[in-house]
Amino acid sequence: MFSSRMQNLTPYVPGEQPQDRQYIKLNTNENPYAPSPRIQTFLKDFDLDALRRYPDPLASELRNHIAAKYGVSQDQTFVGNGSDEVLAFAFYAFFDSCHGALLFPRYSYSFYPVYCDFFGIRYQKIDLRADFSIDINRFVEADESSGVIFPNPNAPTGILLELDQIVELLERYPSERVVLIDEAYIDFGGKSAVGLIDAHPNLLVVRTGSKSMGLAGARLGYAMGSAPLISALFSVKDSFNSYPVSTLTQKIGVIALADDDWFNATVDKIMAGRDYLTAELRKRGWNVLPSHANFIMASKPGVSGEKIYLQLKARGVLVRYFDIQGLKDYVRITIGAEDELKRLVDEIQTAFGD
Ligand SMILES: *Cc1c(COP(=O)(O)O)cnc(C)c1O
Repeated sequence: MFSSRMQNLTPYVPGEQPQDRQYIKLNTNENPYAPSPRIQTFLKDFDLDALRRYPDPLASELRNHIAAKYGVSQDQTFVGNGSDEVLAFAFYAFFDSCHGALLFPRYSYSFYPVYCDFFGIRYQKIDLRADFSIDINRFVEADESSGVIFPNPNAPTGILLELDQIVELLERYPSERVVLIDEAYIDFGGKSAVGLIDAHPNLLVVRTGSKSMGLAGARLGYAMGSAPLISALFSVKDSFNSYPVSTLTQKIGVIALADDDWFNATVDKIMAGRDYLTAELRKRGWNVLPSHANFIMASKPGVSGEKIYLQLKARGVLVRYFDIQGLKDYVRITIGAEDELKRLVDEIQTAFGD
């Protein structure tokens, strides 16, 4: 009944989306705020007739807006059904095992090894420094490789790699292999590598609407890179699904990208929440990694991550812990809304004291 491929699948496990009770959900890095209110206005007036037709397979209007926003040209942009799909297309298009393993950090987005197994791509995990930062020398000096991918800021550490380090990596790494930077969290205080795509035709920058734009439910991801890379992504898409981005999501994306006021205010609130939570935890003796994302990695000396997770879950707050050697002390906490963070700090105070 099942294909041999099927028997070998090891799927990604997303963070819990529990239905049993109301939790304060700080476990999947969603935006705590509803997206741009202009989307609400649009939806009220939306003409249903538009849903009769297939969406624009090129998503031209949306790609024009992305191009204008980031100062690139339309043929340097690609959109997909969430950045997970864009990443999957990129793995298929750019990485194989002929030239060696795909390199990514030891602690990184756990979907990368899943795609590697899915597409039969060998991979090699590159150790981080003791402080969890990325050392680009270890990527440049690795044996043969078919490409490099990492999130910037990295997940789940939240640690940012500065742009000059990315420039150095691109200058030293073979220019015929793709370097993919997954900028899911770059809007929370980091500097994008998008400006480097003209100088480095092997650089692909992948973005998502799910975190900073508050559109996880709309499923919108996009990529920017040289025209040949983008053209390869279109070839993969059109060999798989011509219409991955719905008409509604294309429209919503255009509206969201234009609302700078909503965007700036929201990102500012989340960064202020990050500062608040970091300070409150450190005051109580917790170790908090320096984050440029909408989450923090934190540990409490003497208490395992799993224990922290369970204690907080019992108190109605969901965070994420990792059953991975080297991360077992930590929990990853998404930066929620102000009232959610206050409640979290109260629960932490009650459960763990100071
Ligand atoms: C959340 C996340 C994504 C996936 O985003 P979607 O657009 O919702 O598929 C990709 N990469 C990293 C590192 C993420 O944390």
